[in-house]
Amino acid sequence: MKAVQMLIDGDWRSAESTYYVFNPANIDEVVAEVALGTRRDAQEAIEAAYRAFASWARTSPFERAELLKKAATIVMERIEEIARLLTLENGKPLKDSRKEIGFAARVLQYYAEEATRIFGEWVPTISPSIRSIVIRQPVGVAGLIVPWNFPVDLLAWKLGPALAAGCTVVIKPSSEAPVAATEFARAVNDAGFPPGVINVVPGRASEVGTELVENPKVAKLAFTGETETGKHILEKAARHLKRVSLELGGNAPAIVCDDAPLEVAIPGCVRRAFSHMGQICISINRVYVLEGIADAFIEGVLEATAKIKIGNGLDPETELGPMFREELRQRTKEHIEDALEKGARLLYGGSEPEGEEYKKGFFFTPTVLVDVDHRMRIMREETFGPVMPIMVVRSLEEAVSLANDTRYGLAAYVFTKDLSRAIELTERLEVGGVAVNVNDVTELQAPFGGWKQSGIGRELSRHALDGYLEYKHIRIGLA
Ligand code: NAD
Repeated sequence: MKAVQMLIDGDWRSAESTYYVFNPANIDEVVAEVALGTRRDAQEAIEAAYRAFASWARTSPFERAELLKKAATIVMERIEEIARLLTLENGKPLKDSRKEIGFAARVLQYYAEEATRIFGEWVPTISPSIRSIVIRQPVGVAGLIVPWNFPVDLLAWKLGPALAAGCTVVIKPSSEAPVAATEFARAVNDAGFPPGVINVVPGRASEVGTELVENPKVAKLAFTGETETGKHILEKAARHLKRVSLELGGNAPAIVCDDAPLEVAIPGCVRRAFSHMGQICISINRVYVLEGIADAFIEGVLEATAKIKIGNGLDPETELGPMFREELRQRTKEHIEDALEKGARLLYGGSEPEGEEYKKGFFFTPTVLVDVDHRMRIMREETFGPVMPIMVVRSLEEAVSLANDTRYGLAAYVFTKDLSRAIELTERLEVGGVAVNVNDVTELQAPFGGWKQSGIGRELSRHALDGYLEYKHIRIGLA
């Protein structure tokens, strides 16, 4: 069993008490014993980060870049170990875990490069005897609060730009999936960052999370999680006018036009609806298919869904692991039941898979529903489960209006061979990212984030650095 400790001021230490993390594929298996950090531990970590900030903020960006590059190398050296822990605590198939850790290493490498491109400006002035220079400086201590579904990537998306900018950090991993995130932070720290630059305090939201949100020495909060949690944090952080970036919930639509390349649309929708058991903020949650192509699309989706191999994430054949916890499986069932009561038809799944191997984990069969409409919770709320509700529509106008009929605005997907139609749809969808004929909106060098109640600010790309930097104008009179 793995022991997970806290990192405060350069020291790995135990907490006064501990708790256990279990394997969602087998609830009898304990994955790790984890230090239960308290408010006091979080305060110590913040103090350490605050002290370390004074000198870290003044390091050369090239020095920060070297450390980040080294960190990326160490993460890749430990990829197998961290990926295995991620699968054990989170349930996702090992190949997806490897992908997550590999991407996290690339993120560190990318921000190593961006660290040396944090440029200022020399701006024109009204008087010939005045010079105006604009520089960008790190904002201070950053509190990084991450969820359980991509506990390593979503940490890397924050840690990379924060360290590149010259911020020091206190990381609060998800209390439910802290193991791989903490091992990732250990690998980064082992590159040789000075004590206090990186701190990690696993623990409850009510203790560690609250301290990060309320302590005035934390200048910036970078949060990924549920929309309701994000609103609460924003309200509390407003008392101190903290800089806050929020990556929140989603309810992503996919529009399948009547000229869609089905050989791309079918596997694309199936993968993006069911991958990681639908527990992804950019999962396809609603499909609007034009009536001319609906039968062929639905037939293809059912055929592809029936072939998916469900199992323990450590089995190399597994394509879908268990759900992360029982409440999520229950909520998924409730959303399916609500839809069926209101007239939806179940074409596939809707229950636990049968077999001894599934008895001890939170497994669920990927589910396909048709005859759905917007009175149903499945079309309006974030299910965070493996369900693809398909609604047949008569026109693109109808599809766009239904796609935008949500409080969320994170991602959307469009499948069509017509370029003009693709451009019109991408411009009209109210989201932070649209994918056309591909099943992912994520690209390291492009901004990722939400419109409407899916968030504030952007991660990835050079734009993520903006969240960790302040402008400073220096006006100089020439003697
Ligand atoms: P959550 O909101 O329950 O928790 C996220 C993190 O915040 C955890 O570390 C938790 O301990 C902490 N937290 C909870 N309450 C807090 C508080 N009051 N103060 C400070 N910290 C607090 O979310 P979750 O269940 O871990 O993650 C799933 C959610 O994350 C889904 O809604 C999903 O859409 C969203 N998500 C969004 C993105 C994105 O990029 N937009 C990516 C992944 C997940």
